[in-house]
Amino acid sequence: MKISFRKVMLKKRFPLAISRGISGDTHNVFIKIEDEGLVAWGESCPGKSEGAENTEEVISQLNKLIKVGIKDKSIYEIESIAHDMKISPSAYAGLDIALWDLKAKKAKLPLNELLGLPLPKSMTSLTIGIMSPESVKQRIPLLFENASTKFLKVKLGSPLGLEADKAMYKQVLESTKGYGLSLRVDANGGWSTENAKYMIDWLSDKNCDYVEQPLVEGNEKELKTLYQSRSLPIFVDESCRSSSDISKYHDCVDGVNLKLMKCGGITEGLRVLSTAKAFELETMIGCMSESSISISAAASISGQIDHIDLDSHYNLNPDPSWGASMTKGITMPSNNFGHGAHLKN
Ligand SMILES: [Mg+2]
Repeated sequence: MKISFRKVMLKKRFPLAISRGISGDTHNVFIKIEDEGLVAWGESCPGKSEGAENTEEVISQLNKLIKVGIKDKSIYEIESIAHDMKISPSAYAGLDIALWDLKAKKAKLPLNELLGLPLPKSMTSLTIGIMSPESVKQRIPLLFENASTKFLKVKLGSPLGLEADKAMYKQVLESTKGYGLSLRVDANGGWSTENAKYMIDWLSDKNCDYVEQPLVEGNEKELKTLYQSRSLPIFVDESCRSSSDISKYHDCVDGVNLKLMKCGGITEGLRVLSTAKAFELETMIGCMSESSISISAAASISGQIDHIDLDSHYNLNPDPSWGASMTKGITMPSNNFGHGAHLKN
């Protein structure tokens, strides 16, 4: 088994502004495994909160793990070693994705079939970052010019305050008239408890399906207050980093957002889903700044997930990878073996 890394810059079509700041171009690490004549691919998107801030950290953490020896070990054994070595989730996710890709290719199956999962049935949302109403007017037609989905995630939690949030959201409502869209809001922890309560009430009669991460990560104790009087479903994203987090606040949220980079890949991602379902919570799957490779891996496990937000690769120009594409609004993996995606060159 030969493992190699490639650092690639991902160039965004539009930079994405959220409550914590703006994300422009990123550098991701692509993991290539060659084994028994097969080639498998994984992708790590570095993130400070996910324990590996840049490509160098991703590669050095994975090299440390590989040095210990992963040959002839199962994916679950390798994951356990990575856990003991405190390899960060975003670094490990890339290797985990590549290992599952290889396993499915050896079995001559698409990854979803290897895992006993159906293909996705729900449309993905596209995302509009925090911006002025004037920019919303210009962005909506560009965002939906080639897109068949009917869902739009609106980032709120503006550093300029609630009036800026409300002005932006009103413009989104105005500009999407005639598109037949359902909206959902992600505040990325940008609201105080009081502001979150106010905004959830304000949004409740304005075509908003649910609100994601209203409170900042670390402020989970306040979720209870918010949950008791909520007028829209509440999902957590940053507050849910692994399956073990869910039992801490399962009784004060309606759903959780799973991300492969945040939880450490497919192996832990499947546990997040089964734990959420055990607590009868709704499920969502999202992404960071990722290309078609890790999006295809996420799409491969999205068949039983309620809400899909796998759209970061549509905002790349160019996408360095080939893989999942939008079919009737659904981010659908290709029907090749494995997760069905690869780096283009
Ligand atoms: Mg989110």
